[in-house]
Amino acid sequence: MTDLLIRNLRPLGASATDMLIRDGRIAELASGINASGVPVEEAGGAIAIPGLVEAHTHLDKTVMGMEWYENAVGTDLRAMIDNERRARRQLGLDPARQSMRHALALVGNGTTHIRSHVDVDIVNGLSVLEGVLDTREALRGIVEIEIVAFPQSGLMIRPGTLELLDQAMVAGADLVGGLDPCGIDRDPKGHLDAIFGLADKHGRGIDIHLHEPGEMGAFSLELILERTAVLGMKGQVAISHAFCLGMPDWTRVEGLLSELAEQDVAILTTGAPSREVPAVKRVLGVGLRMGAGCDGVLDTWNPWNRPDMLDRARIVAQKNNMRADADLALVLAVCSTGGAAVMGVAGHGLEPGCNADLALIPGRTLAEAVATGGPVLMTVKGGRVTGRDGKPLREVS
Ligand SMILES: [Zn+2]
Repeated sequence: MTDLLIRNLRPLGASATDMLIRDGRIAELASGINASGVPVEEAGGAIAIPGLVEAHTHLDKTVMGMEWYENAVGTDLRAMIDNERRARRQLGLDPARQSMRHALALVGNGTTHIRSHVDVDIVNGLSVLEGVLDTREALRGIVEIEIVAFPQSGLMIRPGTLELLDQAMVAGADLVGGLDPCGIDRDPKGHLDAIFGLADKHGRGIDIHLHEPGEMGAFSLELILERTAVLGMKGQVAISHAFCLGMPDWTRVEGLLSELAEQDVAILTTGAPSREVPAVKRVLGVGLRMGAGCDGVLDTWNPWNRPDMLDRARIVAQKNNMRADADLALVLAVCSTGGAAVMGVAGHGLEPGCNADLALIPGRTLAEAVATGGPVLMTVKGGRVTGRDGKPLREVS
């Protein structure tokens, strides 16, 4: 592990101080620290925040560094799924190379932890997962990558997928994924029994994509809650998107939120501008863990997303009508410590004893940093400088 002395940084925008890192952990915060033989970085009064956490993305999908992908698909979810499966082959999308590009771009932008869903389907088998596993291994010590085995093409409608998900868990995936049990699979009981059964078998958590809106999503969510309780999986389930929690019927949403809180089910948001999304303050208000992510970046789905959690904090704030300085700081916390709490990362903070995983960002206050964006000045992982001025230090292959 690594020793480092960072001079003149401002933790969360507070007064300037020095930070001494020993063996990859924050050892001391004080002015004028003397530590002979330890490498020194000058922060120049930059704000320090705990490392940004990209808690919902798809490292296997980006076309970053390739030709521009001309999208002519439209917005129907099933059509987009089928299109991507075809395009993956036509474009020659190499999951190892592309996930490396995507992950390193995030590192340059202050990210220290990533949760990525990775496609598992009967056309590509485990080949996509294997590529992302290679990237995870290659980037150990630079960024921590958690992998969700994701049945993007559906589960019950594509026999053989469940067996592949089972193999994916053995091959190194960390969590079991799922996708719209009603909307895609048309079999909510079958879908949820399958993924909860798999999670139970492997002793792993679940992170399920739930795009289903309104009452349909609420129905799926209740089935998720039932299974979480029956299997004793409190605290091990996350719901990505959860658009149904953005429906206007507040009394209905309030009831769902309190049930989610009872089972400690985490919520992951992208603040999708095109959809109704869970309200950040309401989710946090009932004590739920909440993280955020950019979702797929520059892929067959999302031409506009960027691998940048500081940018995402701004988008989530905008979508939630959060304007006050304290609210912008709150959204930034969702994008760092919030995501870490969802991923179960211990010691993600700026206090002595915490992991030395942090980002130095420009701005006089946290609110200004969110409003104006980067580039992130420095990314530090375990005391090692991994990015400068919005760029990763490791070469992209
Ligand atoms: Zn997603």
